[in-house]
Amino acid sequence: MSSLWSWGRVVRRLKRLLWLSVVLKAGVGALAYGLGAEVASPVVALALLGGTGLVLLEFGLIFCWLYPLERAYRGLTASLGDYLQARLRLVWDSLAPLLSVGMGALTLSYTLSGEYRLQGAWGTLMASAMGLSALLIGLGVMRRPIPLAVRSVSVEAHLLMEAQRLGRELGVRVREILVLDGTRLRQANAFALSGGRIAVTDILLASLTEREVYAVLAHEVAHLAQRRRLVRLWLLLLGVGASTAIAAAPLWEHLPRWGLLAWLGSLALGTTVPILRLRQRHEREADAFAVSQYGKEPLANALRKIARLHQRDPNEPSDTTHPSLQTRLKAIEQIDGGRV
Ligand SMILES: [Zn+2]
Repeated sequence: MSSLWSWGRVVRRLKRLLWLSVVLKAGVGALAYGLGAEVASPVVALALLGGTGLVLLEFGLIFCWLYPLERAYRGLTASLGDYLQARLRLVWDSLAPLLSVGMGALTLSYTLSGEYRLQGAWGTLMASAMGLSALLIGLGVMRRPIPLAVRSVSVEAHLLMEAQRLGRELGVRVREILVLDGTRLRQANAFALSGGRIAVTDILLASLTEREVYAVLAHEVAHLAQRRRLVRLWLLLLGVGASTAIAAAPLWEHLPRWGLLAWLGSLALGTTVPILRLRQRHEREADAFAVSQYGKEPLANALRKIARLHQRDPNEPSDTTHPSLQTRLKAIEQIDGGRV
Protein backbone atom coordinates (compact mmCIF):
# COMPACT_ATOMS: atom_id res chain seq x y z
CA MET A 1 0.00 0.00 0.00
CA SER A 2 2.69 2.44 1.00
CA SER A 3 4.56 2.27 -2.28
CA LEU A 4 1.48 2.87 -4.41
CA TRP A 5 -0.31 5.16 -2.06
CA SER A 6 2.19 7.35 -0.23
CA TRP A 7 0.49 9.97 1.89
CA GLY A 8 3.14 12.56 1.00
CA ARG A 9 2.27 12.11 -2.66
CA VAL A 10 -1.43 12.67 -1.98
CA VAL A 11 -0.67 15.91 -0.14
CA ARG A 12 1.60 17.07 -2.98
CA ARG A 13 -1.12 16.40 -5.56
CA LEU A 14 -3.71 18.22 -3.46
CA LYS A 15 -1.52 21.31 -3.30
CA ARG A 16 -1.01 21.28 -7.06
CA LEU A 17 -4.72 20.84 -7.55
CA LEU A 18 -5.44 23.83 -5.30
CA TRP A 19 -3.24 26.17 -7.31
CA LEU A 20 -4.56 24.77 -10.57
CA SER A 21 -8.11 25.49 -9.40
CA VAL A 22 -7.18 29.06 -8.40
CA VAL A 23 -5.23 29.78 -11.59
CA LEU A 24 -8.05 28.45 -13.77
CA LYS A 25 -10.62 30.68 -12.11
CA ALA A 26 -8.34 33.72 -12.22
CA GLY A 27 -7.60 32.96 -15.89
CA VAL A 28 -11.29 32.79 -16.82
CA GLY A 29 -11.92 36.06 -14.95
CA ALA A 30 -8.97 37.86 -16.55
CA LEU A 31 -9.95 36.62 -20.00
CA ALA A 32 -13.56 37.79 -19.63
CA TYR A 33 -12.34 41.17 -18.40
CA GLY A 34 -9.69 41.55 -21.08
CA LEU A 35 -12.16 40.67 -23.82
CA GLY A 36 -14.21 43.61 -22.69
CA ALA A 37 -17.06 42.16 -20.68
CA GLU A 38 -18.69 45.24 -19.15
CA VAL A 39 -19.01 44.43 -15.46
CA ALA A 40 -19.26 46.69 -12.45
CA SER A 41 -16.58 46.34 -9.74
CA PRO A 42 -19.08 45.08 -7.09
CA VAL A 43 -20.00 42.26 -9.49
CA VAL A 44 -16.30 41.42 -9.86
CA ALA A 45 -16.04 41.44 -6.05
CA LEU A 46 -18.97 39.03 -5.87
CA ALA A 47 -17.32 36.83 -8.51
CA LEU A 48 -14.15 36.85 -6.39
CA LEU A 49 -16.10 35.70 -3.33
CA GLY A 50 -18.00 33.17 -5.46
CA GLY A 51 -14.73 31.82 -6.88
CA THR A 52 -13.32 31.42 -3.36
CA GLY A 53 -16.52 29.65 -2.29
CA LEU A 54 -16.26 27.36 -5.29
CA VAL A 55 -12.66 26.38 -4.45
CA LEU A 56 -13.74 25.62 -0.86
CA LEU A 57 -16.67 23.56 -2.16
CA GLU A 58 -14.44 21.59 -4.54
CA PHE A 59 -12.00 20.82 -1.74
CA GLY A 60 -14.85 20.03 0.65
CA LEU A 61 -15.91 17.30 -1.77
CA ILE A 62 -12.34 16.06 -2.22
CA PHE A 63 -11.86 15.89 1.57
CA CYS A 64 -15.19 14.07 2.02
CA TRP A 65 -13.80 11.45 -0.33
CA LEU A 66 -10.36 11.42 1.34
CA TYR A 67 -11.69 11.22 4.92
CA PRO A 68 -12.23 7.44 5.13
CA LEU A 69 -8.88 6.86 3.38
CA GLU A 70 -6.87 9.13 5.66
CA ARG A 71 -8.75 7.78 8.67
CA ALA A 72 -7.69 4.26 7.85
CA TYR A 73 -4.20 5.17 6.68
CA ARG A 74 -3.18 7.58 9.46
CA GLY A 75 -5.45 6.34 12.25
CA LEU A 76 -7.53 9.51 12.66
CA THR A 77 -10.41 9.46 15.13
CA ALA A 78 -11.88 12.90 14.32
CA SER A 79 -15.46 13.08 13.02
CA LEU A 80 -16.05 14.04 9.40
CA GLY A 81 -17.18 17.52 10.51
CA ASP A 82 -14.01 18.19 12.52
CA TYR A 83 -11.88 16.76 9.74
CA LEU A 84 -13.49 19.00 7.10
CA GLN A 85 -13.19 22.07 9.30
CA ALA A 86 -9.48 21.49 9.94
CA ARG A 87 -8.64 20.66 6.32
CA LEU A 88 -10.70 23.47 4.76
CA ARG A 89 -9.08 25.91 7.15
CA LEU A 90 -5.74 25.14 5.46
CA VAL A 91 -7.32 25.85 2.06
CA TRP A 92 -8.80 29.09 3.42
CA ASP A 93 -5.40 30.09 4.86
CA SER A 94 -3.91 29.91 1.36
CA LEU A 95 -6.79 31.79 -0.26
CA ALA A 96 -7.42 34.53 2.33
CA PRO A 97 -4.35 36.72 1.59
CA LEU A 98 -5.16 36.73 -2.14
CA LEU A 99 -8.82 37.47 -1.45
CA SER A 100 -7.95 40.32 0.88
CA VAL A 101 -5.56 41.97 -1.61
CA GLY A 102 -8.03 41.41 -4.48
CA MET A 103 -10.94 42.97 -2.57
CA GLY A 104 -8.74 45.88 -1.48
CA ALA A 105 -7.62 46.56 -5.04
CA LEU A 106 -11.20 46.37 -6.33
CA THR A 107 -12.36 48.81 -3.65
CA LEU A 108 -9.60 51.22 -4.67
CA SER A 109 -10.35 50.99 -8.36
CA TYR A 110 -14.11 51.32 -7.69
CA THR A 111 -13.73 54.45 -5.58
CA LEU A 112 -10.76 56.11 -7.35
CA SER A 113 -12.22 55.74 -10.82
CA GLY A 114 -15.39 57.45 -9.57
CA GLU A 115 -17.42 54.45 -10.71
CA TYR A 116 -19.20 54.26 -7.34
CA ARG A 117 -20.72 57.71 -7.90
CA LEU A 118 -22.71 56.39 -10.86
CA GLN A 119 -24.69 54.23 -8.46
CA GLY A 120 -25.47 56.94 -5.93
CA ALA A 121 -26.01 55.89 -2.31
CA TRP A 122 -25.93 52.24 -3.38
CA GLY A 123 -22.42 52.78 -4.76
CA THR A 124 -21.17 54.24 -1.47
CA LEU A 125 -22.70 51.31 0.39
CA MET A 126 -21.09 48.78 -1.95
CA ALA A 127 -17.69 50.51 -1.70
CA SER A 128 -17.88 50.42 2.11
CA ALA A 129 -18.90 46.76 2.14
CA MET A 130 -16.03 45.84 -0.22
CA GLY A 131 -13.46 47.86 1.75
CA LEU A 132 -14.67 46.40 5.05
CA SER A 133 -14.50 42.81 3.86
CA ALA A 134 -10.96 43.39 2.51
CA LEU A 135 -9.99 44.77 5.92
CA LEU A 136 -11.66 41.98 7.94
CA ILE A 137 -10.16 39.21 5.83
CA GLY A 138 -6.75 40.92 6.08
CA LEU A 139 -7.06 41.19 9.87
CA GLY A 140 -8.06 37.52 10.02
CA VAL A 141 -4.84 36.66 8.17
CA MET A 142 -2.75 38.70 10.62
CA ARG A 143 -4.48 37.49 13.80
CA ARG A 144 -3.89 33.78 13.27
CA PRO A 145 -6.86 32.19 15.06
CA ILE A 146 -6.35 28.99 17.08
CA PRO A 147 -6.18 26.22 14.46
CA LEU A 148 -7.46 23.25 16.52
CA ALA A 149 -9.72 22.62 19.52
CA VAL A 150 -8.17 23.78 22.82
CA ARG A 151 -7.84 21.10 25.50
CA SER A 152 -8.65 22.05 29.06
CA VAL A 153 -5.29 20.90 30.36
CA SER A 154 -2.37 23.16 31.14
CA VAL A 155 1.24 22.54 30.27
CA GLU A 156 3.75 21.71 32.95
CA ALA A 157 4.92 24.87 34.73
CA HIS A 158 8.55 24.44 33.68
CA LEU A 159 7.60 24.65 29.97
CA LEU A 160 5.95 28.04 30.42
CA MET A 161 8.85 29.25 32.56
CA GLU A 162 11.36 28.18 29.93
CA ALA A 163 9.29 29.81 27.15
CA GLN A 164 9.17 33.03 29.18
CA ARG A 165 12.93 32.92 29.66
CA LEU A 166 13.32 32.52 25.88
CA GLY A 167 10.92 35.43 25.40
CA ARG A 168 13.07 37.64 27.61
CA GLU A 169 16.12 36.81 25.45
CA LEU A 170 14.24 38.14 22.42
CA GLY A 171 12.35 40.95 24.14
CA VAL A 172 8.87 39.50 23.71
CA ARG A 173 6.38 38.51 26.41
CA VAL A 174 5.10 34.93 26.43
CA ARG A 175 1.77 34.94 28.25
CA GLU A 176 0.38 31.49 27.77
CA ILE A 177 0.97 28.06 26.26
CA LEU A 178 -2.22 26.38 25.07
CA VAL A 179 -2.54 22.64 24.60
CA LEU A 180 -4.48 21.73 21.45
CA ASP A 181 -6.19 18.49 20.57
CA GLY A 182 -3.88 17.02 17.94
CA THR A 183 -4.74 13.42 18.73
CA ARG A 184 -7.93 13.05 16.74
CA LEU A 185 -6.35 14.52 13.59
CA ARG A 186 -2.88 13.16 14.36
CA GLN A 187 -1.28 16.58 14.21
CA ALA A 188 2.03 17.09 15.96
CA ASN A 189 2.40 20.82 15.65
CA ALA A 190 3.20 24.05 17.42
CA PHE A 191 1.94 27.53 16.57
CA ALA A 192 2.82 31.12 17.48
CA LEU A 193 -0.51 32.92 17.94
CA SER A 194 -1.30 36.57 18.50
CA GLY A 195 -1.28 38.09 22.01
CA GLY A 196 1.92 36.39 23.19
CA ARG A 197 0.36 32.94 23.05
CA ILE A 198 1.96 29.71 21.85
CA ALA A 199 -0.02 26.56 21.13
CA VAL A 200 1.30 23.00 21.05
CA THR A 201 -0.67 19.85 20.33
CA ASP A 202 -0.98 17.10 22.92
CA ILE A 203 0.48 14.55 20.54
CA LEU A 204 3.60 16.71 20.10
CA LEU A 205 4.09 16.93 23.87
CA ALA A 206 3.64 13.18 24.18
CA SER A 207 6.05 12.30 21.36
CA LEU A 208 9.02 14.56 22.10
CA THR A 209 11.55 14.57 24.91
CA GLU A 210 11.76 17.59 27.20
CA ARG A 211 14.68 19.16 25.35
CA GLU A 212 13.01 18.57 21.99
CA VAL A 213 9.89 20.36 23.25
CA TYR A 214 12.14 23.21 24.44
CA ALA A 215 13.66 23.46 20.97
CA VAL A 216 10.21 23.62 19.36
CA LEU A 217 9.12 26.27 21.89
CA ALA A 218 12.24 28.33 21.07
CA HIS A 219 11.29 28.21 17.38
CA GLU A 220 7.79 29.48 18.20
CA VAL A 221 8.99 32.15 20.65
CA ALA A 222 11.20 33.46 17.84
CA HIS A 223 8.07 33.66 15.65
CA LEU A 224 6.31 35.68 18.38
CA ALA A 225 9.21 38.14 18.38
CA GLN A 226 9.13 38.33 14.56
CA ARG A 227 5.42 39.17 14.38
CA ARG A 228 5.98 42.90 14.85
CA ARG A 229 8.37 43.01 11.89
CA LEU A 230 5.87 41.09 9.77
CA VAL A 231 2.94 43.35 10.66
CA ARG A 232 5.09 46.44 9.98
CA LEU A 233 6.05 45.17 6.51
CA TRP A 234 2.44 44.24 5.76
CA LEU A 235 1.21 47.74 6.71
CA LEU A 236 4.04 49.35 4.73
CA LEU A 237 3.16 47.37 1.60
CA LEU A 238 -0.54 48.16 1.93
CA GLY A 239 0.31 51.83 2.41
CA VAL A 240 2.54 51.88 -0.68
CA GLY A 241 -0.13 50.08 -2.74
CA ALA A 242 -2.86 52.46 -1.62
CA SER A 243 -0.78 55.62 -2.10
CA THR A 244 0.39 54.69 -5.61
CA ALA A 245 -3.26 54.03 -6.47
CA ILE A 246 -4.30 57.43 -5.09
CA ALA A 247 -1.41 59.19 -6.83
CA ALA A 248 -2.45 57.58 -10.11
CA ALA A 249 -6.13 58.43 -9.58
CA PRO A 250 -6.30 61.13 -12.30
CA LEU A 251 -5.06 58.57 -14.87
CA TRP A 252 -7.42 55.91 -13.69
CA GLU A 253 -10.27 56.56 -16.10
CA HIS A 254 -7.91 56.66 -19.10
CA LEU A 255 -6.13 53.45 -18.25
CA PRO A 256 -6.84 50.60 -20.69
CA ARG A 257 -8.39 47.45 -19.27
CA TRP A 258 -5.11 45.59 -19.54
CA GLY A 259 -3.42 48.40 -17.64
CA LEU A 260 -5.77 47.92 -14.72
CA LEU A 261 -5.26 44.16 -14.80
CA ALA A 262 -1.49 44.64 -14.83
CA TRP A 263 -1.79 47.01 -11.87
CA LEU A 264 -3.88 44.47 -9.95
CA GLY A 265 -1.43 41.71 -10.76
CA SER A 266 1.61 43.70 -9.69
CA LEU A 267 -0.18 44.79 -6.52
CA ALA A 268 -0.94 41.16 -5.63
CA LEU A 269 2.64 40.05 -6.38
CA GLY A 270 4.17 43.14 -4.80
CA THR A 271 2.43 42.45 -1.50
CA THR A 272 2.57 38.65 -1.29
CA VAL A 273 6.13 38.00 -2.53
CA PRO A 274 7.96 40.22 0.03
CA ILE A 275 5.79 38.81 2.86
CA LEU A 276 6.53 35.25 1.75
CA ARG A 277 10.27 36.00 1.51
CA LEU A 278 10.32 37.53 4.97
CA ARG A 279 8.42 34.57 6.43
CA GLN A 280 10.86 32.13 4.83
CA ARG A 281 13.75 34.07 6.36
CA HIS A 282 11.94 34.05 9.70
CA GLU A 283 11.78 30.25 9.57
CA ARG A 284 15.54 30.01 9.20
CA GLU A 285 16.10 32.54 11.99
CA ALA A 286 13.67 30.70 14.29
CA ASP A 287 15.58 27.44 13.75
CA ALA A 288 18.87 29.27 14.36
CA PHE A 289 17.53 30.68 17.63
CA ALA A 290 16.48 27.20 18.82
CA VAL A 291 19.96 25.89 17.94
CA SER A 292 21.63 28.79 19.78
CA GLN A 293 19.72 27.75 22.93
CA TYR A 294 19.90 23.97 22.94
CA GLY A 295 22.26 22.87 20.18
CA LYS A 296 21.46 21.09 16.94
CA GLU A 297 20.34 17.66 18.13
CA PRO A 298 17.08 18.47 19.99
CA LEU A 299 15.64 20.53 17.11
CA ALA A 300 16.76 18.08 14.42
CA ASN A 301 15.29 15.14 16.35
CA ALA A 302 12.03 16.99 16.97
CA LEU A 303 11.68 17.78 13.26
CA ARG A 304 12.38 14.17 12.31
CA LYS A 305 9.77 12.88 14.75
CA ILE A 306 7.16 15.41 13.59
CA ALA A 307 7.73 14.53 9.93
CA ARG A 308 7.40 10.83 10.76
CA LEU A 309 4.13 11.38 12.67
CA HIS A 310 2.73 13.27 9.69
CA GLN A 311 4.04 10.61 7.29
CA ARG A 312 5.49 13.44 5.32
CA ASP A 313 7.87 12.96 2.42
CA PRO A 314 11.26 14.20 3.76
CA ASN A 315 11.95 15.96 0.47
CA GLU A 316 8.57 17.69 0.30
CA PRO A 317 8.11 21.23 1.73
CA SER A 318 5.45 21.13 4.47
CA ASP A 319 3.95 24.47 3.39
CA THR A 320 4.92 27.62 1.50
CA THR A 321 7.14 28.90 4.32
CA HIS A 322 8.46 25.72 5.99
CA PRO A 323 10.98 23.94 3.72
CA SER A 324 11.28 20.16 3.46
CA LEU A 325 12.74 18.13 6.33
CA GLN A 326 15.94 17.43 4.36
CA THR A 327 16.51 21.11 3.52
CA ARG A 328 15.84 22.14 7.10
CA LEU A 329 18.16 19.51 8.59
CA LYS A 330 20.89 20.54 6.18
CA ALA A 331 20.44 24.20 7.13
CA ILE A 332 20.55 23.32 10.84
CA GLU A 333 23.77 21.38 10.24
CA GLN A 334 25.33 24.55 8.82
CA ILE A 335 24.37 26.84 11.68
CA ASP A 336 27.42 28.03 13.64
CA GLY A 337 27.64 28.56 17.33
CA GLY A 338 25.07 26.03 18.46
CA ARG A 339 25.79 24.44 21.81
CA VAL A 340 26.34 20.73 21.35
ZN1 LIG B 1 8.02 28.09 11.94
